[in-house]
Amino acid sequence: MKKTFISFDLDGTIVKPDYNEFIWFKEIPELYAKKYGLDFEKAREKVIKEYEKVGDNDVRWYSLDYWLKHFGFGVGKKEILEKYAPFVELYPEVISVLEKLKRNYILVISSAMGREFINVKLRKEKIFKYFNKVFSAISDFGMIKKEVAFYRKVCQSLDISPSQLIHVGDNYEADYLVPRNIGIRSFYLNRTGYRLSNNDDSVVSDLKEFVYKINNTS
Ligand SMILES: [Mg+2]
Repeated sequence: MKKTFISFDLDGTIVKPDYNEFIWFKEIPELYAKKYGLDFEKAREKVIKEYEKVGDNDVRWYSLDYWLKHFGFGVGKKEILEKYAPFVELYPEVISVLEKLKRNYILVISSAMGREFINVKLRKEKIFKYFNKVFSAISDFGMIKKEVAFYRKVCQSLDISPSQLIHVGDNYEADYLVPRNIGIRSFYLNRTGYRLSNNDDSVVSDLKEFVYKINNTS
């Protein structure tokens, strides 16, 4: 029997999104405020304006290196990434779900985030040990989003067909519609519990429900 692989999105799926927010909307504005003697709110406004000038369709948007250089803070990226490492938080069901799934599936991560961010998060409770491979759209393939080409590359790299892969994530487009498009069985994780009327079989409100569904439907 061919092995089935399960691919997890990372942010909003395995870890809570706070870590990223701390870096982009707290740390960077604080450094800016310090450098220019502004109050935090003013600095935050300025920083966000700078982010917007580049925009999220540009690879620079995602690069901490780029922004540190751009603002000329003279702080290393490692220092910042580590400073907030203690704030990485797993969703409560993550460990038990990974423990269960690792027995019957090969687990991987498919994230849009840069590898430096991913690595810090996967250190939390050593969850890296559950994953056979970790894919970063931006670091591995220079893609800013998880588009069809990203999922094709993931399958290629794992040497499997899309039908051997199950993917779950909290972005309706990038984690659900896009992978489905090429025949990957995908699940939309909506932690708010909101249901889409027609697609209930593919919508889950946490990873426990995801496990239940992959075991009880096909
Ligand atoms: Mg996500």
